[in-house]
Amino acid sequence: MKWQGRRKSDNVVDRRRVRAGGIAVGGGLGGVIVLVLYLLLGGDPSDIQQNLQIGGPSTSTEVGEPLSAHQEEMGEFVAVVLADIEDVWGELFRQMGLEYREPRLVLFTGQVESACGYAAAATGPFYCPGDENVYIDLAFFEDMQRRLNAPGDFALAYVMAHEVGHHVQNLLGITDQINDLRGRLSERELNQVLVRLELQADFLAGVWAHYAWQDTDFLDSQDIEEGMNAAAAVGDDRIMRQTQGYVVPDAFTHGTSEQRARWFRKGLETGDIRQGDTFAAEEL
Ligand SMILES: [Zn+2]
Repeated sequence: MKWQGRRKSDNVVDRRRVRAGGIAVGGGLGGVIVLVLYLLLGGDPSDIQQNLQIGGPSTSTEVGEPLSAHQEEMGEFVAVVLADIEDVWGELFRQMGLEYREPRLVLFTGQVESACGYAAAATGPFYCPGDENVYIDLAFFEDMQRRLNAPGDFALAYVMAHEVGHHVQNLLGITDQINDLRGRLSERELNQVLVRLELQADFLAGVWAHYAWQDTDFLDSQDIEEGMNAAAAVGDDRIMRQTQGYVVPDAFTHGTSEQRARWFRKGLETGDIRQGDTFAAEEL
């Protein structure tokens, strides 16, 4: 990817040097007081969660070594890719007559607290609908490169675009529809629905790549190849084989390597959000 010198997003919150302890993240003491007042006044806490600023007043302290040159560069890369993702989804939402609310992307090290709860890096990158933030520990990415043999900078861009895909699902009301199914379906049935949700996020990552690819100064075919590898590398069957040594199809929540690569490719080739109804697809 030829990313140097391009626009950087303002929506990256870099907490890699912040110790996550106590109430470090999620609004800090000020946020807690506001929340208590709000509850006393009879408000709904899920409303106010959205207003708590990550990176606001905080009791945490900056710790440890400054970031290495490589880590600094990875932070810049993330900001450039996020800016491009913002441009693409901003335009696609405008074409649909909708407004695109940009998510923030929180870089963290080790563990982080989100509106969706406390997360360790072992969770992998995730999107929290409650605060509309994407959370990424870049150590996960380095691990993915090493263990799953998915090299290249586009693999990280793919992971980011997949997580922002979950944000797009949230803005379009798809996430709420799925949440309504929880408790009404068996675990097995719910897993099958969640696979479709994940494959759609892969498709949406492909839609972003479709437009990013049109900018030939940014992506080349080699990058796209890396994206396909990354989509395959994070398939549930591959991960399960690496971590457990066997595959348990009913426990899939992300789809197989082949399915993930296929939906990413479909988004990449069409660039058409209407082609991505994984819930209606007879064959995944
Ligand atoms: Zn996902």
